[in-house]
Amino acid sequence: MSINKAPEAEQKICVGCGFCCDGTLFIHAVLKPGERTTVPEKIMEQVFNEGEKDYFWLPCGYFSQRCTIYESRRADVCGSYRCQLLRDFAGGKITLEEAVEVVREARAMRSDLQGQYRHLTGNNEEMHFIRMLMKLGKLQGAENEQPDMDLEILLARCNIFEALLIKHFRSAGDFGRMQITNEAGGTNTGGKSI
Ligand code: SF4
Ligand code: SF4
Repeated sequence: MSINKAPEAEQKICVGCGFCCDGTLFIHAVLKPGERTTVPEKIMEQVFNEGEKDYFWLPCGYFSQRCTIYESRRADVCGSYRCQLLRDFAGGKITLEEAVEVVREARAMRSDLQGQYRHLTGNNEEMHFIRMLMKLGKLQGAENEQPDMDLEILLARCNIFEALLIKHFRSAGDFGRMQITNEAGGTNTGGKSI
């Protein structure tokens, strides 16, 4: 485990975000070899194994608006992972203010999409973005020959949001680690790795 904390400026970006913990960017995160028995309880409860590696499902049980155990020992990946936005900030490609604004806009867009989903489906259940996307995909697959225009528009807007996530948050390296089998037996939308 790690008590590795990000530099203060990076924390200012992350504290308003949480996309890598809350099921917006990824549905699992990787553990280091042998780490599964030493991680905090709520992570341990969500551990699974695939091939040679251990992972835990996201959203993380410790996420509630922000990481609730930030000052404690967490999984190694928690202190080591840097999304593209943090890398761009650390590399001087964007300012702190610009990074915070990217997060603010992305959160507003996600919130808008979740509101539209609730309106369309009548499902008011708290749902993270990737799960919502999967549910929308199933709805689309169940459509009769006549497409539901509201559903199609919402899916198109979700695609735009995905493009924003890819541009600003998911690094090219993250894509290389995305394909593992999920609980339903298919491939999933990706994982957080160091
Ligand atoms: S996605 Fe990036 S900015 Fe957001 S919490 Fe994770 S590391 Fe921080
Ligand atoms: S322990 Fe904290 S940093 Fe790690 S995945 Fe959970 S919420 Fe995110």
